[in-house]
Amino acid sequence: MEADIGIEKGKIAFLGSSATAPKSSKVVDAKGKVVIPGLIDTHTHHRDPGFTHKEDLTTATQAAAAGGVTLSIGMPNVNPPTTSVDRFKNVIEISKKKALVDFNHNPSGTVPEEIPGLAEAGCLAFKIFMVKDTGRDYPHMPGIGLHHHGDLFRSFEAVAKTGLPLMVHPHDQDLMEMIEQRYWQRGDRSPQAYAKAYREFDGIIWDTAIATILRFQKATGVKLHILHMSTPGALEMVRRAKGEGRPVTCEVNPWALFLGNSWENIEKLGPYCLGFWVPEGHAEALWEGIRDGTIDVVGSDHAPHTKEEKEIGWKDMWKSPGGEPQIQDYLRLFLTEVNQGRLTLDRLVWLTSYRPAHVFGLYPRKGVIQIGSDADLVIVDMRKEETIQNETTLTKVGWTPYHGRKVKGAPVTTLVRGKVVMENGNVVGKPGDGQFIPPV
Ligand SMILES: [Zn+2]
Repeated sequence: MEADIGIEKGKIAFLGSSATAPKSSKVVDAKGKVVIPGLIDTHTHHRDPGFTHKEDLTTATQAAAAGGVTLSIGMPNVNPPTTSVDRFKNVIEISKKKALVDFNHNPSGTVPEEIPGLAEAGCLAFKIFMVKDTGRDYPHMPGIGLHHHGDLFRSFEAVAKTGLPLMVHPHDQDLMEMIEQRYWQRGDRSPQAYAKAYREFDGIIWDTAIATILRFQKATGVKLHILHMSTPGALEMVRRAKGEGRPVTCEVNPWALFLGNSWENIEKLGPYCLGFWVPEGHAEALWEGIRDGTIDVVGSDHAPHTKEEKEIGWKDMWKSPGGEPQIQDYLRLFLTEVNQGRLTLDRLVWLTSYRPAHVFGLYPRKGVIQIGSDADLVIVDMRKEETIQNETTLTKVGWTPYHGRKVKGAPVTTLVRGKVVMENGNVVGKPGDGQFIPPV
């Protein structure tokens, strides 16, 4: 709709035609542009505390502000990993001092005894990596992974009692070890081998893991939020569970649609593109899942690593950590697809703001433009054409896997609770501007 948006004390106080709009002390002109709810990124690796040579809560949230993200929710693979109430509270204290946009943190759901206290402390969800890392101890260090079914099940039961969502990175550890050994025995530890290993038998390690956790969901009633959706088989399973009315939701990551979906990228960028390979047909199935509502949420999976850490991967990808910076670029990449007609702007907002707010218990405070909601807004110029550049990236590691990518459609202003934190591409927010956001 065409309207003026009035903001008072950080909340939306007026929506309607400019003829009836009350007088205001400050005006932000959005004529000819589109205003959408600020993005809620439910999956950001802030790296703080413990890995601040890669990123910290200030640099991550500067990149967030530049990318139109107004609420950034961290992940527990920091150091010390967030497995207890004390550690969770520590991360929140650090975030209060350093973040420019609103924040929360998903603690690890690996210690059942800690789960009730963590829920009490105001987390939005729990995270479990179904992973034991075989070639390295980071990013899946001990303490945050569970792969034995009995251990996993106990955590499912404990999280179910809180009523909060359980985010799971699905991974079949036994099958993966068998598959990896075959590559290693051939002496092949290249990025291409790594890409193929994780996609062997059409992504079997993903599908068997997802079948298992869906069965655990049925038994425990937990709100299950499946991360890193990337196979047609997984989409089918989630569709069926949703059809049965079960509380199952899922996430797609920008790397699955814009980066790891091209073998050419994997050849050219190697470790800078991995993550995971998502063959073209599988990426197409993801777009279908986006269009029909099977996929609920875009999580950026912003996962910065230094160039030095990535370079090792050319020789031995199992020694190099997975993931790439994403948070500054993903809105631009999706807006480009909107301009090309691949999805509607409505569906994009549904994925990046509206559904995340619902799944993570933030609605109607966040994720929507309506009277009484927080004035978290992004002004988007749908016609703005840019080339993504390493030089303008704000993540501490100073590179983006999308360097050189041409995009059309960009956030030009970001407001968090009515305060401008990014203007014409310049981040003007300050550390401390962000607030801790517990469930509504
Ligand atoms: Zn992640």
